[in-house]
Amino acid sequence: MYKNLISSLVEKFSLLVDFSAKNRIPRIFVSDISSSIYCEWRKILESKFGFEATPEMERGLRIHNSLFPYEKIVPEEADKVLEAKGDLEITLKLGFIWEDFQINKKVLISGIPDRIFFESGRLKRISELKTRKNQDVYVSDIIQCGLYAICIERMLPDIVEIKDLELEIKVLNVVDQSMRSEIFFFRDLKQAVENTVSDIMDFWLGKREPKVSASKNLCSLCYFRTLCDKKLI
Ligand code: SF4
Repeated sequence: MYKNLISSLVEKFSLLVDFSAKNRIPRIFVSDISSSIYCEWRKILESKFGFEATPEMERGLRIHNSLFPYEKIVPEEADKVLEAKGDLEITLKLGFIWEDFQINKKVLISGIPDRIFFESGRLKRISELKTRKNQDVYVSDIIQCGLYAICIERMLPDIVEIKDLELEIKVLNVVDQSMRSEIFFFRDLKQAVENTVSDIMDFWLGKREPKVSASKNLCSLCYFRTLCDKKLI
């Protein structure tokens, strides 16, 4: 067990943000990385033309906030619960510096997972909620959740529970209100997540051209389809 785990994570995040600000290190969010998996070109259009949340997205956000509201925590109180080997459910800001030695560039990768669960004082599970018109779990969900786990691992390299950490994707079907939950083990996915993130960061750091959607279905649902000259349909 890691002593003062919550206080350490809060302090580390604050130091990372200060360090990045002082050294003009840009920030990228975990959700930006995971959402660029299927079409990086969409991110280029997003930065060029901007993006407004659709009514469907706003509804999803409302559901999301009601089920997983962001709550301020008192780190010392949370650590007392863990020291007493209690259960804890918490929302925390996480991050780490991504460094590309080839081009000598650094980026702060940060994000807030929906919930981090502790059981009997030990880190147990990171949980992400998605609201959709179906119950599918996408690769991007797993990458997002796995990248949060990598954040914790990079912030506290000697944390022992990380190898048994569970990644939970919950999908709420907004049509019939049914909920599906799927659990993966971080240890099984860690390498795949690292490889995928490394490839995506090459795009974000400008080391290669953006990849374009390979799915007609994705293009047909895309916010930018009327503006995009690379769409498949
Ligand atoms: S229309 Fe297709 S190719 Fe164009 S940005 Fe959207 S998903 Fe990408």
